[in-house]
Amino acid sequence: MQKKNYSLKEYCGLFGVYGHKDAARLTYLGLYALQHRGQESAGIVSSDEKDVRQFKGMGLVADVFNNENMKALSGNLAIGHVRYSTTGSSILKNAQPFVAEYANDTFALGHNGNLVNSVELCAKLERQGTIFQTTMDSEIILHLIAHSKKPNLKDKLIDALSKIRGAYSLVLLTKDQIIGVRDPNGFRPLCLGQIDGSWVLASETCALDLVQARYVRDIEPGEIVFINKRGINSVSPFPKVKHSFCIFEYIYFARPDSNIFGNSVYFARKKLGAQLFKEHPADVDMVMPVPDSGNYAALGYAEASGIPFEMGIVRNHYVGRTFIQPTQHIRDFGVKIKLNPVKEVLKGKRVVIVEDSIVRGTTSKARVKALRDAGAKEVHMRVSCPPLRHPCYYGIDFPTKEELIASSMSVEQIRDFVGLDSLGYLSLEGMLSSMALPKEEFCICCFTGDYPIPIKHALSKHSLEKA
Ligand code: AMP
Repeated sequence: MQKKNYSLKEYCGLFGVYGHKDAARLTYLGLYALQHRGQESAGIVSSDEKDVRQFKGMGLVADVFNNENMKALSGNLAIGHVRYSTTGSSILKNAQPFVAEYANDTFALGHNGNLVNSVELCAKLERQGTIFQTTMDSEIILHLIAHSKKPNLKDKLIDALSKIRGAYSLVLLTKDQIIGVRDPNGFRPLCLGQIDGSWVLASETCALDLVQARYVRDIEPGEIVFINKRGINSVSPFPKVKHSFCIFEYIYFARPDSNIFGNSVYFARKKLGAQLFKEHPADVDMVMPVPDSGNYAALGYAEASGIPFEMGIVRNHYVGRTFIQPTQHIRDFGVKIKLNPVKEVLKGKRVVIVEDSIVRGTTSKARVKALRDAGAKEVHMRVSCPPLRHPCYYGIDFPTKEELIASSMSVEQIRDFVGLDSLGYLSLEGMLSSMALPKEEFCICCFTGDYPIPIKHALSKHSLEKA
């Protein structure tokens, strides 16, 4: 079969509106609120029930869209997508939503998550004569819909979805309806809201807040919601399976002002921090976060310990991807431009720094060095999740197993590598007990290697290329 380098690891954000005169503008705002879920490309597809229009571009939402291209996105239906991908597939043709003409209709699709049987499905579709336009596994879903022999779109979609395995939250648009889908395991979030009597779909509730939509409910795992002029019609055609909500959404990925899987991310992170203190207290002068992702766990740690909370590192929020590099070598420039230690706060102090996670360990190492250079006497680190030892095949961008520092080093070795006085990770039990939902509801494969949907091929980027 043809060698394909599928983009394996996708961060993505989804948004959709049905029945609002400003559908595309609301979608723009929704994507703006979901920018943290993907910064590589952004796209909006709209429909006035006759014509479907699209605009996609590389970069941030605010850079891709302007008054001119937004004007063309008329109609009262729209869906949008923000995407981050690993290098190699970062090209415009892979930007979503994908749009395809088929049987006198137009389909547009935005996908958050990753399929785990894309190699087999792609091989089969190619044998049947399918020509792929992109290297995205999401395109497979559109082809499966087009290939289905079922009589109507609803059944074609169910037929297509019954063939795919893995993580998928989807928003789809046809000329006259939008559709929201969550896979039976419910790996990635997707919620439903209402604004001025119109329906809204969003990856996270922070996007509903920005457009002043009222949160109605989550799309259930395995549910397909059709939204059109007849109202909202929900079906759950797939056998029920155990839920696998991604716990890493709570730890790092989702915005703290969102409720996902029915619960507040902010309070989940604070609880993780409080539990972290219980398991790994530290004899220090102050608690500080790695901003911004460590902020809420650090608050929880400080509150539980009674140790003063300080912002020993200040973040520059205006660092884009294109800044002019210094002409001469400035030490630790890459670290300092984003996060700058405050010498006056750190000088002579014993600090515990709370981090949401350690992935490769390399940025942590540079940050710890910067804290010591700024005068910290002791630097201890507490991490609000257990060691990350296994790659995610369901949509979180982690490096390969070999690159995950905890897959090959003990906690003591990581402590020494990062240059810490002490290092403590939250336990698996402690993490799960901090959640508002029962532990059985979660996917924790990045910590345990127990993959809720079997990974048939060893899905490293490289082995897929070989497939
Ligand atoms: P490092 O020390 O190089 O492992 O980097 C740790 C930092 O990466 C932490 O501040 C995390 O918030 C952040 N992080 C966690 N998961 C990811 C991810 N999937 N992609 C990018 N950064 C992440």
